[in-house]
Amino acid sequence: MPLSFFMYIPTRVIAMKGTGKDNKIADVIVLGAGLAGLSAAQRLGDASLVLEKENRPGGLVRTECFNNYWFDRVLHLLYFPDPLTKLRVQEILGTDLAQCTPLAWVETQSGTVRYPLQMHLGGLEKSSAFSCLVDLMKAKLSHSPRLSNNFEEMLLHTFGSSMCRIFLLPYNRKLWKRPLTSLAPFDFQWTISKPNLKHVFKGIIFPDSEFDAYNYQGFYPRPPMNSSVRGMELLSHKLAGQVFDLRLNHTVTKIDTKRCIVYVMNDQRMMSFRYRSNCISTIPLPETIRMCRQTPDDILRDCDKLLRNRVLSAAFSIKGPRPVNNGHWRYYADESIIFTRLFFMHEFDPLTAPEDGWGVCAEIVQPAEVPMMEPKGILNRALNDIHRSGVLPPTCEVVDQHLIIIDPGYVVFTKENKDIITRMRDFLADHGVIPLGRYGRWEYSSMGQVMRDAYTAASRVAVTSSAFENNSSVGNESPGIEF
Ligand SMILES: Cc1cc2nc3c(=O)[nH]c(=O)nc-3n(C[C@H](O)[C@H](O)[C@H](O)COP(=O)(O)OP(=O)(O)OC[C@H]3O[C@@H](n4cnc5c(N)ncnc54)[C@H](O)[C@@H]3O)c2cc1C
Repeated sequence: MPLSFFMYIPTRVIAMKGTGKDNKIADVIVLGAGLAGLSAAQRLGDASLVLEKENRPGGLVRTECFNNYWFDRVLHLLYFPDPLTKLRVQEILGTDLAQCTPLAWVETQSGTVRYPLQMHLGGLEKSSAFSCLVDLMKAKLSHSPRLSNNFEEMLLHTFGSSMCRIFLLPYNRKLWKRPLTSLAPFDFQWTISKPNLKHVFKGIIFPDSEFDAYNYQGFYPRPPMNSSVRGMELLSHKLAGQVFDLRLNHTVTKIDTKRCIVYVMNDQRMMSFRYRSNCISTIPLPETIRMCRQTPDDILRDCDKLLRNRVLSAAFSIKGPRPVNNGHWRYYADESIIFTRLFFMHEFDPLTAPEDGWGVCAEIVQPAEVPMMEPKGILNRALNDIHRSGVLPPTCEVVDQHLIIIDPGYVVFTKENKDIITRMRDFLADHGVIPLGRYGRWEYSSMGQVMRDAYTAASRVAVTSSAFENNSSVGNESPGIEF
């Protein structure tokens, strides 16, 4: 039987025996080599083995290069949940990690303002700024957001009707692609800054003033010119280099929690790997549940209730002078525009494109259960809307275009699925499988958060491992999530 996650491991965790790479047994098997899986494995050292279905590690944190134009798979800015995670990332990236203070804009029919809109209302037309302020005061006087029944109600009760009409409701309809009344009022909104009155008033009088949003202390890798890897992938690439045993092209198909065996397809061959203490899964929660031989029927049936959205990143390589006033990214409230955001790769790292060019990426969100449209049609529509948005000067020419598909992208939070998620996580933990990462835990988390949680999980699973002791140069874990 595997050890349950909370159980103290009484003897020293025995590192893999033999010569390493050919062994099919490890103390801990990590499923998935995204940032969460790689971070856990790096901490576990030679006590772990990682199985990844793709031919390159990194998961979401990969950066595609199309003829010298680099595109992150999604908009990726690093920020840290605690000083220890920051220190660890600094250790991994060294001098390649550069500070990147983000400048983002919000486009609405009432004007263009700095992000977040609620702290820069002075940039809107005067009548709109006035009604935003009046409605915010009304909401504050008559509602307690904590009592909201759903996401839409929470937004109206927190911000008032004008800010919701101008930006929050249309934008969130584009992002979630389902009735906002069907979404949970809490649990996934930590990136939305609360309208603190002092900051709201300051933003009306000084619309260009800085506001410290959740990600204002941002970082981004900026390696030297000749680096073979650029973009945020540099983080997962360097992290993967510190992982003891990483097996690519290994697709996990089944987990037998009773016998502690993970079954895998590799090059059309079925293989099996055995773990001694635990299995850490960063594979999406419903998939992990479906793969477990021991999952009872009632939990299995709930898998279909866990909805998600896919993200399509439409990446365009542009030849021509670089725009200077677009900022790092821009939000679009107009629901006739296909994308939620545009982001500009050269603002994160000027070396992500040839000197006479730049890259722009459009983030498009779709419900994962709806069949995909033809990629060409999506790219045409995105390009048409980029022209409409006015960010592409007439002197510039689009020289290449690609569609990158991310599924799952956003986990959908309804009031009903909170209990389902908890039950699934508990079932796995009781059977020695630790769900980890954004999709493994089915949550809305950032890169820094999944890394922090992976370090915490690794420290608890192998507290006595010699490999772990050798690896733990930075000190005690930060508290992170409750498992
Ligand atoms: C649109 C968008 C924007 C974001 N912006 C930011 C941002 O600005 N800043 C920030 O900090 N975070 C951001 N994030 C969040 C961040 O990208 C994630 O938190 C993080 O990358 C998740 O890492 P992970 O390892 O948990 O998951 P993943 O990267 O998904 O890793 C899971 C791995 O498991 C592998 N796998 C799946 N199934 C199998 C199988 N059957 N067998 C073997 N392997 C398998 C996958 O191939 C993948 O490599 C954003 C996310 C999205 C979607």
